[in-house]
Amino acid sequence: MRITNVKLARISVPLRVPFVTALRRVDRVEDIIVELDTDTGEKAFGEAPPTGVITGDTAGAIIGAVQDHIARTILGRDVDDFEEITKAVQESCVHNTSAKAAVDMALWDLYGQKWNIPVYKLMGGARSKITTDITISVNDPEIMAADTRTAIARGYDTLKVKVGIDPALDVERLLAVRTAAGEKTRIRIDANQAWTPSQAVHILDRMQEKGLDIELCEQPVKAADIEGLKFVTDHGIVPVLADESVFSPGDAAKIMQTHAADMVNIKLMKCGGLSNAQKITALAEVYGVECMIGCMLEAKVSVNAAIELACAKSVITRVDLDGPVLCAGDPVIGGAVFHEKEITVSPAPGLGVRGFEDGKLSVFWAAKED
Ligand SMILES: [Mg+2]
Repeated sequence: MRITNVKLARISVPLRVPFVTALRRVDRVEDIIVELDTDTGEKAFGEAPPTGVITGDTAGAIIGAVQDHIARTILGRDVDDFEEITKAVQESCVHNTSAKAAVDMALWDLYGQKWNIPVYKLMGGARSKITTDITISVNDPEIMAADTRTAIARGYDTLKVKVGIDPALDVERLLAVRTAAGEKTRIRIDANQAWTPSQAVHILDRMQEKGLDIELCEQPVKAADIEGLKFVTDHGIVPVLADESVFSPGDAAKIMQTHAADMVNIKLMKCGGLSNAQKITALAEVYGVECMIGCMLEAKVSVNAAIELACAKSVITRVDLDGPVLCAGDPVIGGAVFHEKEITVSPAPGLGVRGFEDGKLSVFWAAKED
């Protein structure tokens, strides 16, 4: 099975409601799709969301990395040289983890198809169903309470609440969410780097004193402030999950070795795809650290790949893969089946995504093997 074509396309899916965090506001998922074709007729897809404020990977950067570096690295190669090709993708250029993730997942898809096995089975096969949380955007407390009631009515039992735009209002917002959610709902919060270390400890302690019962706090401080992250982990009463501080397996190793966070959040777009994500899960097993798996605002192609990893590895104990359920439609054919919070992995060989509804994909670039 040789790779004969690399194509780039765009996909655009409207969101049910605008997505607002401490860093940005988004109305649509507008992602880059990579398609790999082979001489044996199999196709595979990968997806990369432009997230300039998180990864630095703008649409132009993703397109440029594939066109100028990654395509020529994989064209004409045999998928059976899997170890070599996936490594070559990571080494084709520095950074550009989103472009690498899109191509890496398509390579796993082809490898699974070639050997007729679902990728989640190939990577470990711990389970075939997982349960995701759902994100509540930062807003006025009344709107957040209304969004909470909607989420509970849709069957969600775990909410991820974005906080941090205005620290003074965070406790009030969380009180509104907790009141609307009731006692049994798990509430995890994501500050997206908004606080200083001492501010974080103070705010989190106040939240727990008020009986908010926060399960964990994601990335309370600046990504580069590993000492600050450790300060919050050591001195706060809420468990800390590192997100923006952990991109690569090397970052994860550092966090785990220094106990700077209680848990790490794996995202394919930060680490460069399934190949590196698998290394982070291996480190987590070695250090006894639990992982969350998350996504950016992504459509189902790349979230589907994350689902395969989450189903493969039991060290991934928390799932934050609500990208597709935040979308107002799903143009992707095949892959995991979403029933609100319950996600069932595809039993198909590879990753199971086989195409898109007619007219939903616009291919704008293609390269062939020489
Ligand atoms: Mg986060």
